[in-house]
Amino acid sequence: MSKFFINKKQIENNMVTISDVDAKHIATVLRHKLGDVIQVCDGDCHDYVCKIIEIKKDLVCCEIIESKTNEAEPNTNIILYQGVPKSDKMDLIIQKCVELGIQKIVPVITEHTVVKIDKDSHKKIERWQKISESAAKQSGRGIVPEIGDFITFKEAVRCHKNIGVIPYEKERQNTLSHFTSNIKGQAQNIDLFIGPEGGFSEKEIQLSINQNVMPVSLGKRILRSETAGFVALTILLYELG
Ligand code: SAH
Repeated sequence: MSKFFINKKQIENNMVTISDVDAKHIATVLRHKLGDVIQVCDGDCHDYVCKIIEIKKDLVCCEIIESKTNEAEPNTNIILYQGVPKSDKMDLIIQKCVELGIQKIVPVITEHTVVKIDKDSHKKIERWQKISESAAKQSGRGIVPEIGDFITFKEAVRCHKNIGVIPYEKERQNTLSHFTSNIKGQAQNIDLFIGPEGGFSEKEIQLSINQNVMPVSLGKRILRSETAGFVALTILLYELG
């Protein structure tokens, strides 16, 4: 069944009104007809099964026939602070992390980040937000994970609010499973920091330790930035729900 994210304001008297791009998509790309059933989600974990009762190129009205709580959201909220990698690798990171259950992704400029922030950076965020929405639709999420604004590593590590963990390939003692067994039962929210291709500098790791963000190993092999994020996220969600 096709799924669309809507704003709560689009629901009134048991009816959902969809306009613009989504209406066009429903009417002209998916070629839905009167009486067809689609699913919408309010982005706040409420899913609605709806019947189309009016359909035009730029406006679709539906009647809600069933409402249910979305059950695809994990109990642990993980924010990924991702050192921005080169080229379009961030696209893949966003797509996969949204499928896996990330809550929010913040692009981070680290010492070894090659990508520069320029006047068009907001366009990147808008594009990444769309990738997040389409991955959220495809994977049946109950929210569209937010893509935050670019932030420097210093700001990110100083201002983060939750229990923090930073996979670091030179860490020899602590592993991610030490981290999960230490926090099991107490952490609902985790901040995960992953470096770009060039990794984190020693200074950045020291700063993390000072801010109570724990360096951990993900094993003896060095993973690519995008692989490290998927692996860490998968392990965290598997261990903590
Ligand atoms: N430039 C570094 C590797 C960077 S990998 C080098 O070649 O030595 C990119 C990021 O993935 C790292 O900053 C770290 O956050 C994560 N990472 C990759 N492999 C890891 C491992 N074995 N243990 C912990 N973190 C790892």
